[in-house]
Amino acid sequence: MSLPRTFGDALALARGQVPASEARLLLREASGASAAAIVGFPERALAPDAAARFTAWIARRAAGEPVAYILGEREFYGRRFAVSPDVLIPRPETELLVEQALARIPDGTADVLDLGTGSGAIAITLALEAPQARVTAVDISPAALAVARSNAEQLGGQVRWREGSWFSGVAGERFDLVVSNPPYVASEDPHLLAGDVRFEPRGALASGPEGLDDIRAIAGAAPDALNAGGWLLLEHGYDQGDAARAILISAGFVEVATAQDLAGLDRVSFGRLP
Ligand code: GLN
Repeated sequence: MSLPRTFGDALALARGQVPASEARLLLREASGASAAAIVGFPERALAPDAAARFTAWIARRAAGEPVAYILGEREFYGRRFAVSPDVLIPRPETELLVEQALARIPDGTADVLDLGTGSGAIAITLALEAPQARVTAVDISPAALAVARSNAEQLGGQVRWREGSWFSGVAGERFDLVVSNPPYVASEDPHLLAGDVRFEPRGALASGPEGLDDIRAIAGAAPDALNAGGWLLLEHGYDQGDAARAILISAGFVEVATAQDLAGLDRVSFGRLP
């Protein structure tokens, strides 16, 4: 097959196979050219190595692979995080969890725990945005922790990494703030078989028949891992706000409420240990 010779040829080759905005992003990353050049100068020559890279990426994307895994990175809270199929791709709605956490980190030192850190996007962002906080992050997957550690090295966040299942990674310790974006999709949800989600680690997504098993487990164990007055913040599905608040209340939390993401959907519920 002959390779595209210009930006215009490249975008024409991608047309009908992947959305135009993704084709432009992949062409930018393959060629190093600016967004303006790619759209404004369709006749500009594309180097053969860039053309080969772009053509291979379009084939992978057309076969369903997420752009973030093809490029090996995704932006979160203004920084580029490396990602691999060992970790969930960071989502914009999770920035709400970060904002809600930052609003609860006191000016003085605070001990903060991120459960199920994956790429480390939440823990590293908190460490960089709240340098006075001591951040610990737990994941059950050694492969995910390797991705998170290399993100911390690259981006400069100071985080203590621990391997384990939820609080077992930090047994006997107490924190002022615990945050988590746990798996919360119902195990039979057809969403798991569609789009990018198909390529993501199932263990980071599915959580029992209603998607609430891990939220229940974390909320139930959190009182033993929080200092008095400490907060638990949990991301969840758009239709799980009522259930998440009920779980927090029955676990003994007060000041329980839910915050909405930029789409206006219930996304993060939280409560305070009396
Ligand atoms: N927001 C993700 C999705 O709907 C789920 C992430 C999660 O389970 N933590 O695909």
